[in-house]
Amino acid sequence: MGDEWRRYLAQQIELGGSEVILGTPPSLGERVSNSADAAPAEDPKWKKGAPPIPGPGLVVESPEPGLLGNDLANLTTLEEIAERIRTTYCCALCPSRVNAVPGEGNSKARLVLVGEGPGAREDATGRPFVGQAGQLLDSILEAIEVPRESVYITNIMKCRPPQNRKPLPDEVTACIPYLHRQLELIRPKVIVALGGTAGEALLGVRKGLGELRGKVHRYNGIPLIVTYHPAALLRNPNWKKPTWDDVRIARQLLDC
Ligand code: URA
Repeated sequence: MGDEWRRYLAQQIELGGSEVILGTPPSLGERVSNSADAAPAEDPKWKKGAPPIPGPGLVVESPEPGLLGNDLANLTTLEEIAERIRTTYCCALCPSRVNAVPGEGNSKARLVLVGEGPGAREDATGRPFVGQAGQLLDSILEAIEVPRESVYITNIMKCRPPQNRKPLPDEVTACIPYLHRQLELIRPKVIVALGGTAGEALLGVRKGLGELRGKVHRYNGIPLIVTYHPAALLRNPNWKKPTWDDVRIARQLLDC
């Protein structure tokens, strides 16, 4: 079995064993055709058994930048926003940070992933999703054949809440304008909210993950999928299979 297959099967097991797809691995020495007699391209591996795209959910518009009570509309690049985040205190969390974590990735990303807020490693490095949850996120992205470098990864909160507690409503209110502006500049094709906190904050509702999953919401017209947070998957592996379904829905939306 080739390395690629071995890695794929390991990922499938990691993402929820019941979905392991045992196809026929390419046999050693198989002729690789590159001419007109090439077989029709096979579906990518992540697509096998992927659920259909679900129906519509909530439809929200982000606040007009001018209504955000600040001058974020004057910031016209992600780097300017990041610089503002790094040099400003906007809520009680900011003074205790080691580093602010504005987000990172491709400024023209077709997929944006939004988590809750930095943890210890992210606070120490200034980069999003670089701890254990980040490693799991990396394997999820690899499994849907989306390179991490091609996406933009950020959080609702740009500073770490103490002991990784859930951010308070007024902290979210103070910080979320940065995210709205980031999304306005990137204008991705699909947004994935990682966890209920991210889903609720982006959609401006208090509904819980159970109600928000399994629908295609619209954020300023952009399809938005809500799924489990990778840290939750580390605590409860039973949620890996539903997450795998959610990310494959998001992946299909990227191709639409
Ligand atoms: N959890 C998050 O929500 N964001 C990170 O960046 C890391 C862990």
